[in-house]
Amino acid sequence: MFSKKIDAWLNSINALRCVFIGALAVALAAGAALSDSLCTMVHTSITAGISSFVLALTLILLLLLAVFYLAKKISACTLVMTDFIAHCDQTDVDTLNQPFVPEPACRELDTLFNAHNKMLTRLHESTSRIRQFSGDASHELRTPLTIVRGETEVALRWGKTAEDYRNTLISNMEEIERMGRIIEDLLTLAKSESGELPLSITTLSLSDLLQEMYIQARNLGAKKNIEVHLQHEADREIWLKGDDLRLRQMFWNLISNALRYTPEHGHVHIKLECNAANAIVSICDTGIGIEPEHIEHIFERFYRTDAARNRTDGGTGLGLAIVKWVVDAHHGTIEVVSEVNSGSTFTVTLPMA
Ligand code: ADP
Repeated sequence: MFSKKIDAWLNSINALRCVFIGALAVALAAGAALSDSLCTMVHTSITAGISSFVLALTLILLLLLAVFYLAKKISACTLVMTDFIAHCDQTDVDTLNQPFVPEPACRELDTLFNAHNKMLTRLHESTSRIRQFSGDASHELRTPLTIVRGETEVALRWGKTAEDYRNTLISNMEEIERMGRIIEDLLTLAKSESGELPLSITTLSLSDLLQEMYIQARNLGAKKNIEVHLQHEADREIWLKGDDLRLRQMFWNLISNALRYTPEHGHVHIKLECNAANAIVSICDTGIGIEPEHIEHIFERFYRTDAARNRTDGGTGLGLAIVKWVVDAHHGTIEVVSEVNSGSTFTVTLPMA
């Protein structure tokens, strides 16, 4: 895209050169016409000679003006281009937020500079995201690591009985599992972005898949006294073309969130419907809900609301980023409707086989 703009710019410079040479050629021709008219004045009628002389003189003046204008334009554009090249040479990862501001002398190149500045903005946004992401990732991994270190130190210093050591190992195991989950989720997202996680597409029964998820969810819900319901609203079995493993992971992330953020004695409803072209799955809970200002961010990596952070059974903050990737990879959409202290509904729409 950018190289196309550079090519376009070079083409326009070449075009300007051609016009410049053409104008010179025409000026020469007009000069010849002028001398011709002088001869005519001498050899034929004086009146005809005078009128062609005036015409040729006007032409020469106009052409000289055009040549002057073009020469000025080319030198102004060359100066701006020299500034631009210097700006490109100096731009690095720390100065991506500094756009190129051209001198107003060469407006013809504005499209090129606008494209360049837009590219800088995009690069700046991606590098900021990468920096934020590495910061978040290290922070998320440092927390469980600090807990493991602290508990191990306490056990080594103060532990007396086998029971003390056992308790420390149990607690450490939980943190190690948490770190393992974070690393696994990070790897999934990194591979999905680099295209190293191709989908293994088969034709599968979404009705069966959700039935299995429901049984799992019901067992987990029973431990928290949460009732889980499955409503199969479609009047037939629903078939999809998709990656069985990834779809399971996606639905499980949504269902486990619903269970995680719903207090005891709440309800989680899994509903499957369809229209002519799509299967529509909604996962609705009666949990803590999400404040409106957080909704647009919850699919970002490591984004967690304060209410979620304050919970002891929090997840990795990567679950919904994976959900979004799986939904996009299946050409589907996901929507969220939520009300604080009432609950949330995540609706996934996927094209049917
Ligand atoms: P986590 O592992 O923290 O659950 P997710 O990426 O799955 O991370 O979700 C991001 C954030 O979105 C959560 O931390 C929580 O704040 C919010 N969230 C997701 N699902 C729900 C839900 N069903 N009810 C309330 N909040 C939710």
